[in-house]
Amino acid sequence: MASLFKNHFYVGLVLFFSFECFSQNINSFFKAPNGKYLISSDLHIHTVFSDGSVWPDIRVDEAEKELLDLIAITDHLEYQPHVKDIPNPDRNRSFEIARSHRKKDSDLKIINGAEITKSMSPGHINAVFIKDANRILHKDSLSGILEANKQGAFVFWNHPNWVSQRNDGIAKLDPYHVYLIKNKLLHGIEVVNENTFSEEAFQLALENNLTVLGTSDIHGLTEWSYNISLGGHRPITFVIAESKSNQDIHKALLNTKTFIWFNNLLIGSKNNLIPVIYSNLIITSNGYKPNTILAEFTIKNNSSAKMKLEYLGEYNLHENSKMIEIDPYSAKRIVVKTEEFRKRVILPFRVLNALVGPKENAVISYKVSI
Ligand SMILES: [Zn+2]
Ligand SMILES: [Zn+2]
Repeated sequence: MASLFKNHFYVGLVLFFSFECFSQNINSFFKAPNGKYLISSDLHIHTVFSDGSVWPDIRVDEAEKELLDLIAITDHLEYQPHVKDIPNPDRNRSFEIARSHRKKDSDLKIINGAEITKSMSPGHINAVFIKDANRILHKDSLSGILEANKQGAFVFWNHPNWVSQRNDGIAKLDPYHVYLIKNKLLHGIEVVNENTFSEEAFQLALENNLTVLGTSDIHGLTEWSYNISLGGHRPITFVIAESKSNQDIHKALLNTKTFIWFNNLLIGSKNNLIPVIYSNLIITSNGYKPNTILAEFTIKNNSSAKMKLEYLGEYNLHENSKMIEIDPYSAKRIVVKTEEFRKRVILPFRVLNALVGPKENAVISYKVSI
C-alpha cells in the first residue's frame, strides 16, 4: 500500500512537472520584441454551420487547449451543405455559440468572421472583425466585400493557390484583385493555408503591402490534422500588436504587422520577422577558455521553434560545423577560434528556418563583447 501510494505520488509529481513545463513552454511560443505583444491567432475556422464537422464549442476548446490568443469563426456564407439539418438563417449563429461557450476566466478572444465564397475571381475571401455576417451575404462578391469594409473588417484572400481554383497551384492576381487592393478593400493574403505554403502569395504580399496570414482552414479536428498531442501545431499567424486590446490587434492586422509559424518555418517581412528573431535568440559571451585563444559563447533559444542557423562569420568554430541547431527553450555552446585575443567579435548567421522572402532566409548578426 505504501509503495503504491509512493508510486502514485511519484507519477503525480512527474505529471505535474511535465504539465508545468509544457504549459510554460507553449504559452509564450515566441518572446515579443520590446514594447510589443505577440498575439497567436487562427483567423480561418469552420464549423457545422458551413462545411465543418464540429459544433462551434469544440473550436473554442481546441483553441484553449492549444493556448491560442485569438480565433475567428469564418463559416462559408454561401456554401451550406448541412442546410437540411441546420437551416442556419442567421449567419452569426456559429460565432455566438462559440462566444457563449467561452469560460469567463478564459484569455481566448473570439471574433466574428465570414468566408465570402465565390468562384475565381476573386475566389474565397475572409472578413474578420465583422459586425453582422448576414449583411455581407450578397449574390455578387463586390457587394459583400464592400459591406465587410463598411463594417470595418480586416479582409483577406484565402488559399490563392487552391488547386480547385488555380490548377497550377500558382497564386496570381487577376484584374479584380488588383482593383480590390488599389481601393484598399483587400488587406491580406493567405501565404499558408492548412498544409500548403505559397511562395507566389508571399511575393504578392511583399509587392502589394498585404498582410501575410497562415491559417488552419480547419474542417475536422485540429488534433487529427496537426498531431497536437505529439507536439505539433496548426499554422499560426502572430499579430505584432501595441497591446492585447482588440482595437490594437485589428490595427496591427491592417498595418501588415504579422508573421507566420508553419511547421518549423517562420515566414514574414524583414521588418516584422528580424526583431522577433533577435528577441528569441540571445548570444552571451562566457569569455576565453583558460590558457587558450578559444572564445566561448552561449546561444539561447527562447522560442517554441527549433532554430536552425548557418554561421557566416570569418572565424572557424572549434566544436561545430557552420550548421547549428538549437532546440526549443534550450541553449547551445559554440567555441570560436579568434586566432588572437579580441574584445568583441561579430557573429553573423543565416536563419535556415526563417524566410523573409520566397527564397530568402533571414540574416542576423551579433556584435558580442568578450
Ligand atoms: Zn475557402
Ligand atoms: Zn475555408
